[in-house]
Amino acid sequence: MLYRISLIILSIIFISCSEIDTSVEKKQKNPLKTNAKQHDFALVIHGGAGYLSPKNDADKEHNALKTTMDSLLIMGKTMLEKGGEAIDVVTKVITIMEDDPRFNAGKGAVFANNGKNELDASIMHGKDLNAGAVAGVTNIKHPILAAKEVMTSSRHVFMAGQGAEQFAEEQGLTLVDNKYFFTQNKFERLEKAKKQSSKSSMRSDYLPDEKYGTVGCVALDKKGNIVAGTSTGGLTNKQYNRIGDSPVIGAGTYADNRTCGVSCTGVGEFFIRYAVAHEMSSQYRYTDKTIQEIGDDIINKTLKDINADGGLIALDKYGNVAMPFNTTAMLRGYINEEEKVVALFH
Ligand code: ASP
Repeated sequence: MLYRISLIILSIIFISCSEIDTSVEKKQKNPLKTNAKQHDFALVIHGGAGYLSPKNDADKEHNALKTTMDSLLIMGKTMLEKGGEAIDVVTKVITIMEDDPRFNAGKGAVFANNGKNELDASIMHGKDLNAGAVAGVTNIKHPILAAKEVMTSSRHVFMAGQGAEQFAEEQGLTLVDNKYFFTQNKFERLEKAKKQSSKSSMRSDYLPDEKYGTVGCVALDKKGNIVAGTSTGGLTNKQYNRIGDSPVIGAGTYADNRTCGVSCTGVGEFFIRYAVAHEMSSQYRYTDKTIQEIGDDIINKTLKDINADGGLIALDKYGNVAMPFNTTAMLRGYINEEEKVVALFH
């Protein structure tokens, strides 16, 4: 008798669970999503959101940046086409960008209010949700490689300051003097920001002429693995030891093979508060919306409504791309088997 009753109870539980599952599936009817085009691989890169005037589009500087994005995309495509791993593509792309003084990452990092450069980076692997991040580091030449080491060679996810630097050294990464990160134009930007800071509001954390900067990359490889990474010097004139969204998993970076990979750029405080990168993944998982619809909602409605400047790049598990931003410009590009796009303005 007892056996029969248990069987009946178990069947009831089983039936109600299946009903819950079916109803979730029923909601996912958007043909754009369920029949989403499959790409063998895909790669998307950003060089930061900011304020640039479209009338300067012809500027040599802008064209040179686009050419750089173009060659990074082609390099990444070559790796992915040959079966290269998303993790290697993301670290390679970001390392090159960290060496380029035009970007606000690595060599070209902006200055904190104490006249020093403090760098943040993170990376996440969508296969097992493993992740690594470093924050406030002052002497690691390639913070993205330190983030990767935290992910692959430590039992931690997030390391900051001296501990992160010591760990990077132990892993054999290249250390540099903080002066290595000095660039004249970024220093001038600090001086300008200090003069303006008395009138500071959240929004003016991004100077009216604040340019491209932070870098990010998301790759989907042929095995279906999604990896996302972000690297930055943060915001010009930030309080020293301030940490933005870029190294915060779920805020500036997120990757999950079941949903999507995301790298954000913008005024980090908002991206942390709204857990933007993870929000992208959650909405993709639990709603019927496409990656473009979700990105657009978050960046151009939720964040825009509160004057939160920024943008993001994302790839869903099928290789569909989203690159929304609510500033005047965001340097960005993506590539897959059949298409390549590089753009700066809307
Ligand atoms: N999100 C970065 C930060 O707040 C800055 C940026 O993307 O430009 O540190």
